[in-house]
Amino acid sequence: MQLEYVAAICPYCGRGCGINLVVKDGRIVGVEPWKEHPVNEGKNCIKGRNAFDFLYADGGLKKPLIKGNASLEEASWKSTNTDFRKTKKRGAKFRWFHKLW
Ligand code: SF4
Repeated sequence: MQLEYVAAICPYCGRGCGINLVVKDGRIVGVEPWKEHPVNEGKNCIKGRNAFDFLYADGGLKKPLIKGNASLEEASWKSTNTDFRKTKKRGAKFRWFHKLW
């Protein structure tokens, strides 16, 4: 059981604080502040300190969803990228929901 620390940027808001993901056996088990990061200087807010718990949540999206005629429909990543390019060319609004990280 060895812990690894992986430097990353907190995904919660636009401030861009540095975090260190604590990884054990390939799974993120915690977050510690990136002590030398110039934005947050070793501090993270409560959201940043918990910026991993949603990764393993049961209700998380596993696939992208595309708005169909009446509802959101599951799509593959490949088809979503293709549809996105087509949709963007037409100038239509496109909503893409995805799981962070
Ligand atoms: S730690 Fe808090 S303030 Fe910093 S980026 Fe994350 S959510 Fe924003």
